[in-house]
Amino acid sequence: MSYVDEVLAKVKEKNASEPEFLQAVEEVLDSLRPVIEANEEEYKKQALLERLCEPERQIKFRVPWVDDNGQVQVNTGYRVQFNSAIGPYKGGIRLHPSVYIGIIKFLGFEQIFKNSLTGLAIGGGKGGSDFDPKGKSDMEIMRFCQSFMTELFRHIGADTDVPAGDIGTGGREIGYMFGQYKRLRNSFEGVLTGKGLAFGGSLARTEATGYGLLYLTNEMLKTNGIDIAGKTICVSGAGNVAIYAIQKAQQLGAKVVTCSDSTGWIYDKEGIDVDLLKEIKEVKRARLDAYAAARPSAEYHDKKAEGSNVWDIKCDIALPCATQNELGIDDAKTLVANGVTAIAEGANMPTTLEATEYFQKNGVLFAPGKAANAGGVATSALEMSQNSERLSWSFEEVDQKLEQIMVNIFRNLDAAAKKYGFEGNYVVGANIAGFEKVAEAMLAEGIV
Ligand code: GLU
Repeated sequence: MSYVDEVLAKVKEKNASEPEFLQAVEEVLDSLRPVIEANEEEYKKQALLERLCEPERQIKFRVPWVDDNGQVQVNTGYRVQFNSAIGPYKGGIRLHPSVYIGIIKFLGFEQIFKNSLTGLAIGGGKGGSDFDPKGKSDMEIMRFCQSFMTELFRHIGADTDVPAGDIGTGGREIGYMFGQYKRLRNSFEGVLTGKGLAFGGSLARTEATGYGLLYLTNEMLKTNGIDIAGKTICVSGAGNVAIYAIQKAQQLGAKVVTCSDSTGWIYDKEGIDVDLLKEIKEVKRARLDAYAAARPSAEYHDKKAEGSNVWDIKCDIALPCATQNELGIDDAKTLVANGVTAIAEGANMPTTLEATEYFQKNGVLFAPGKAANAGGVATSALEMSQNSERLSWSFEEVDQKLEQIMVNIFRNLDAAAKKYGFEGNYVVGANIAGFEKVAEAMLAEGIV
């Protein structure tokens, strides 16, 4: 049995009840075969892959808080500090009822390679809670965030572990968490990213994941001789990533005709009105049926009632920006039958392994999330740099750096794929390019 298969078997046995984590590990280790085979004896002796798949530290804690009726509620909090070989742990905090240790481990594992791909000094980590922010009042959100930080603060720090946003955690939540950290530690430091502009946040951080997704997608298309202008794009999701992906796609001359939330989706044949979408999602925090009610060119579809989703709409480019495993094999077949030419993942692992393989077999360009959505965390690292020098850069300066980082990520993964004989396979390219630096650092730092 090869070293990769040996480790895969061990990881599967040890983490049998964590399917999302196993899916992420399987994709990465499978892609790394050519690199591992070239160094098999050394890596095996050093147990490099076993160490890579075992988080350095996992923290699980109680988060008690009081709701508006005076009732005490209890949630579970997590922080997985996965790998600090190339920098302090870095990764968001997900607040969603589906959160359990397997979700946080999959996200933390992905973050190791994503963060490495940015070329910046950030290790991999992730946190979260099964708390559901939906329908909670502002004060309930604050009390939850304060309680969450009352435990988390002792494990993090500007040079140790720097959390940020993810699903369910945006500017408001980061503000409350930052306030509580500062109070407990009596220290004003860059311990979180995605902060408000008045207290150390970076311009362009809000836009960064969506903009970065389009910068990388555009580079991938150009490399393959395709012009994005005039193309029809289907986006899923209606959160921070989706909103700014739609905005940048439109600036680049494409037409985005869909978006979705957990209950339904929109088909707008005239192209999504981003200002209206922002108003509904960021200000009113309402559902997408409000979008269709305000816009005659839009149709609203109920996901459950119709059993349909955005991937049923014919498009040239698909950008899944909602959540893990939202695009399965049936969706992939529909998209291919409708002539899709490129997929780029704005969310983390939104495409199942089966669907990814189907796209690749059918010649569809496929940019994996750990490369395509790295713009968010890359700009978080730029926020850390600004905090360290106690300066803030202009929007244009941050945006230009972001674009350059995304272009470099694509060139590096394209080159890595070619070097190992997998030209055009950007999944293999991203995993190898992300892995090489982490592996070098881990070996140099000894058995730790
Ligand atoms: N949650 C984002 C991600 O998945 C951003 C993390 C960060 O900025 O630290 O990469």
